[in-house]
Amino acid sequence: MADKRAERIARFIEPLRVEPGAKVRLGRDFAPQDHGGLRKKDGVELLRTGVELLAEYQQRLAAQDTHGVLLCLQALDAGGKDGTIRHVMSGVNPQGVRVSSFKVPSAEELAHDYLWRYDRSLPRRGEIAIFNRSHYEEVLVVRVHPDLLTRQRLPGPVDGPKFWKRRYREINDWERRLTDNGFKVVKVFLNLSKEEQRTRFLKRLDLPEKNWKFSAADVRERQFWDDYQQAFSEMLSATSRPWAPWYVVPADRKWFARICTAAILAHTLMDIDPQYPRVADAAREELLVAKRNLEREAPAGQPADPYAARHPSAGRKKRR
Ligand code: ATP
Ligand code: MG
Repeated sequence: MADKRAERIARFIEPLRVEPGAKVRLGRDFAPQDHGGLRKKDGVELLRTGVELLAEYQQRLAAQDTHGVLLCLQALDAGGKDGTIRHVMSGVNPQGVRVSSFKVPSAEELAHDYLWRYDRSLPRRGEIAIFNRSHYEEVLVVRVHPDLLTRQRLPGPVDGPKFWKRRYREINDWERRLTDNGFKVVKVFLNLSKEEQRTRFLKRLDLPEKNWKFSAADVRERQFWDDYQQAFSEMLSATSRPWAPWYVVPADRKWFARICTAAILAHTLMDIDPQYPRVADAAREELLVAKRNLEREAPAGQPADPYAARHPSAGRKKRR
C-alpha cells in the first residue's frame, strides 16, 4: 500500500524534476500554466490526501530522530511561496517544522561568510526546515544585481563567470555535506508566468484587503524579468544534483503548485522511510512491570486497565 502510494507520487513529480546535468532554459522546458490534466476540484481532494500523508511521515521522522529535511522554496515576487507553505504544512505538528524567511542580509549577516545565516537555520534531526527564499538568493538577486557583492566584502575578483561557477560549486558541496550526514535537501522553484505576475500585482492594487501586500519594489524588480529567467535557468542547470534535486513547479494555478509541492515533500520523506523505533526486549520488560504496578493500583470496582477495557484491540496491534 505504502509502496503503491510512493510509486504514484514518484510518477507524478517526475516531469517536474530537473535532470542533473541537463541544460535548462525555463521558457522552453517548463510551462507555468501546466496543471497535469487535473481539475481544481480533484486538486483540493488530492491536496488533502497529501497533507495527511505528510502529517504521518513527519511523525515518523520525528520519532526515528536520525534524519532531517530541508525544503528550499524559491520564486519570483507573487509566486505564491507563503500560501504554498501555509497549505502544504497545514496538517503537520508545528513542533517538528521550522520556517525561515530570508530577506536582505543584515550587517551582522554580512560580517560573515555568505552561507553562515543559512547554516544557522538548518533543521535538527527529526525536523523539517523550510527556507522561504534561501541560499539561492546568493546566485539570483545577487547575480542580477552584482553591485550587492560589494557589501559582501569578498577577496579577489568577483562577478566573472568563474566567480559564479565557484558559488554553484560551493552550494553543491554544502548540500552534499548535509545529505551525507543525514539531512535530505530538496528544492522547489515556483515557476510563475510574467502575465500571471502582472495579474497578481493588479489584484493587490484592486482589492483593499490585499493592498498591504503590494510593493512598488516588486514592480521595479519585474523590469529585470529576463535577467531573472536567465539566472534561474543557469542556477537550475548547475545545482540540480542527484543528492539535492530541483523541481520546477508550474505556479500559475496556486492549487496545482500546492499539490506538487506537497507531493515533492512527501516523496522526500518516503525516500527516508522513517520508522517508529522498536522498544528493545529489556525495555519492554520494564514496560510490563510498570503496567502491572499501575493495574494493581486500580480502585475497587474499576477495571485494572481502563484504557484496554475501552479499546479491546489495544496492545494486540502488530508492532512495525
Ligand atoms: P513577501 O513579499 O511575501 O513578504 P518576500 O520573500 O518577497 O516575502 P520581502 O521582504 O518582500 O520578502 O523581500 C525580501 C527581499 O530580500 C527580496 O527582494 C530578496 O531578493 C531580498 N534578498 C533575499 N536574500 C538576499 C540576499 N542574500 N542578498 C540580497 N537581497 C536578498
Ligand atoms: Mg516581497
